[in-house]
Amino acid sequence: KAVEALALSARTESMARGGGRMPVVMDRAFGVTIKDPDGNTFVDLSAGVGVSSVGRCHPKVVEAIRQQSGVLMHAMEVNSSKRTELAAKISEIMPEGLRGDCITFFAQSGSDALEAAVKFAKRVTGRHQIIAFHGGYHGVWNASNALTTGTAYRKGYGPFMGGVIHAPYPYAYRFPFDTTHKSAEQIAGEYVDYLLNTPYTAADDVAAVIVEPVQGEGGYVPPSPEFLQLLRKACNKSGALLIVDEVQSGAGRTGKMWAVEHSGVKPDMLTFGKGMGGDVPMAGLVMRSDLAAKIPDGSVPNTFAANSLSAAVSLTNIALLQDPELDLINRAHQLGLEAQEYIRGFNSPYIGEVRGRGLMIGIELVEDKVTKEPLTGEKLGKLMGHVLSHGVLMVPCGRYTNVMRVMPSLTIPRKLLFKALDVFGDGLKTL
Ligand code: PMP
Repeated sequence: KAVEALALSARTESMARGGGRMPVVMDRAFGVTIKDPDGNTFVDLSAGVGVSSVGRCHPKVVEAIRQQSGVLMHAMEVNSSKRTELAAKISEIMPEGLRGDCITFFAQSGSDALEAAVKFAKRVTGRHQIIAFHGGYHGVWNASNALTTGTAYRKGYGPFMGGVIHAPYPYAYRFPFDTTHKSAEQIAGEYVDYLLNTPYTAADDVAAVIVEPVQGEGGYVPPSPEFLQLLRKACNKSGALLIVDEVQSGAGRTGKMWAVEHSGVKPDMLTFGKGMGGDVPMAGLVMRSDLAAKIPDGSVPNTFAANSLSAAVSLTNIALLQDPELDLINRAHQLGLEAQEYIRGFNSPYIGEVRGRGLMIGIELVEDKVTKEPLTGEKLGKLMGHVLSHGVLMVPCGRYTNVMRVMPSLTIPRKLLFKALDVFGDGLKTL
């Protein structure tokens, strides 16, 4: 149904500036559908920016909240049955390298988890510097913001924690170096090896390399497996830790439980958030047990860590992700491939590239396929207006805010996904 009046700006005035401002007010939601207070409905192709993996207000999640809220919610910094159960489950579902032999430090948000990653990486290695990547997004506080590039997130907020070295991410579509003889992945991997293993660089003082296995906010960029493999080798040589930030790419979204699993690489630490919570705040840092053993007891208190209510919900969420009948993770893989083909089939002059893994798909929009000039803000605004007024919610990302994400809940009905994509395709025709 076409939404006639989007006179919602007055309602968003009450929001603090700084957060994103979508001209939608959510009143209620179920599955992939959101209703605003006027009764307009929207299909959410963003899953609440990757959070609602199993769909909003899933009946089993609602039931878990009901049950747990009558038993125990806040356990302070004492361990709780639910936290123990969740930590054991997380260990079981980790990628190789962490699985079965890891400790989870729970956090409230992705940014928190990354703050923890930096802090612990320094403590366990005794080193001080961190390598992160251009276009990376890891959060908005001190260490996490220092890792994050992007003027919008940094301008006027610094100085942040020092000691972060940014290296090129293998964003093949816009790679600044010559790729005639080597792939972007090889060049980017070799550059990190150079930083880590050359005596006159920071070399022996680098504590960790922190990387998104599929870059998220930077434009939905899935490098080939070789990139992470090269990073692993370079870290092994230097003694730096390899930390994968799976806050956005994890929890089944890319067609495997963790995006790092597409490469076979064993990380030393992994951060999670968003889709692990089943719609309630849940994030954390998982690290190898031998590393965790080096952290002194009581040195990192955290009042709300793994609140029992969040833990119960997260366990339900994971159970749904692993349910063999729903088969959500394989479904994400299959549906993602089909959706990419479908979008390419629009043959729009504005689509520069369609890329992604599973249901983490980016559509890079350009003015010109040859020059790759990003779509203008004006046209993006028009396109966003079109999809929204036809009941579809999409959230852009990318270095030039010209990449539309297709990242619905993994439960999205197939037909509804393609119907929503048609709305986007029609929107392109209006530009
Ligand atoms: N890391 C990555 C890869 C993310 O995508 C995000 C959020 N976009 C964060 C960290 C920060 O998460 P939060 O917004 O929960 O602090």
